[in-house]
Amino acid sequence: MSAETHANGGHSAALDVNDLGVSYYTSSGEIKAADGVSFSIMPGKRMGLVGESGSGKTTTALALMRLIKPPGRITKGSAVIDGIDLLSLSEEEMRTAKLSQIALVPQGAMNSLNPVAKVKNQIIDGLRDHDAQHSASQYRELVTELLDKVGLNRQVGDMYPHELSGGMKQRVTIAIAISMGPKVIIADEPTSALDVVVQRQIMETLAELQDELAAAILLIGHDIGLMAQFVDTLGVMYAGRLVETGTLRQLLSEPKHPYTQMLIDSLPSLERKDRKRGDLRGIPGTAPSLYALPSGCPFHPRCPQAMDICPSEEPLLKVVNDDHVANQGEQQAACLLY
Ligand code: SF4
Repeated sequence: MSAETHANGGHSAALDVNDLGVSYYTSSGEIKAADGVSFSIMPGKRMGLVGESGSGKTTTALALMRLIKPPGRITKGSAVIDGIDLLSLSEEEMRTAKLSQIALVPQGAMNSLNPVAKVKNQIIDGLRDHDAQHSASQYRELVTELLDKVGLNRQVGDMYPHELSGGMKQRVTIAIAISMGPKVIIADEPTSALDVVVQRQIMETLAELQDELAAAILLIGHDIGLMAQFVDTLGVMYAGRLVETGTLRQLLSEPKHPYTQMLIDSLPSLERKDRKRGDLRGIPGTAPSLYALPSGCPFHPRCPQAMDICPSEEPLLKVVNDDHVANQGEQQAACLLY
């Protein structure tokens, strides 16, 4: 897929990820934490990336931000925004691309903010990295404007992170993330430590700002129920691979991959009136160790529909439903049933 002419209606994708691979090299050998991950997000759209821990979703997010640390390494692929492949930029070029092209709203705002710096200085640091032209009073104005956008008053600028609630801290990280008007925002479980009401408010703020910027969002998480309220398209990851992608409606109403089917089945009533809340059906078995991936289709030991061929042949993502719902794209699944 090319970033210039994306298959979906001929428009350019905001983010076009192609064949991304990330491996960790340990004494026990190479661990492929992400392997052959490809997807794209159109401007102004929100895509969710779901999966169990170890499925490769956070690895994918970190790779896009070029935050994979040794013994990990990006082994292949491209991630194109505006014709620029983030994965082939120098460190210096990537520093400029951060915040202006792509920004991360991290998991656990607590750890990402500097505990000994005032909020305003943390926001200004990000801006300064990109543009040293502003005067002190212009920076102050920008900080006030950014705080206002995320629903915080200007006094918060003079506070330290420990003086803020969890929700306020997460709002500060959003202010930093949007400060340079990025085209793509990655939000890695941005509300996981917060209560449900605050979660919803923060997601609403993020959505409003995204609309204003016409940015694309990649939302990483394990809670498909929470995602369903927010995203346009979904990608499901398993054992470092993307096993199904499609619009939210396609994946909720007609999941094709047996793993997605089980994820959807395990949801308490979402669009399903026949299920009472709390009626959870767990997914049998545990996620495979990336040290010893099952052969063929990595899902085969847990798959209720496994066939004789599944342990020996690895399925690739292929189109399973090309009904372009509202021009949002096709549904693809990596399963030998199709
Ligand atoms: Fe199940 Fe086989 Fe499809 Fe894998 S390829 S999900 S084992 S049916």
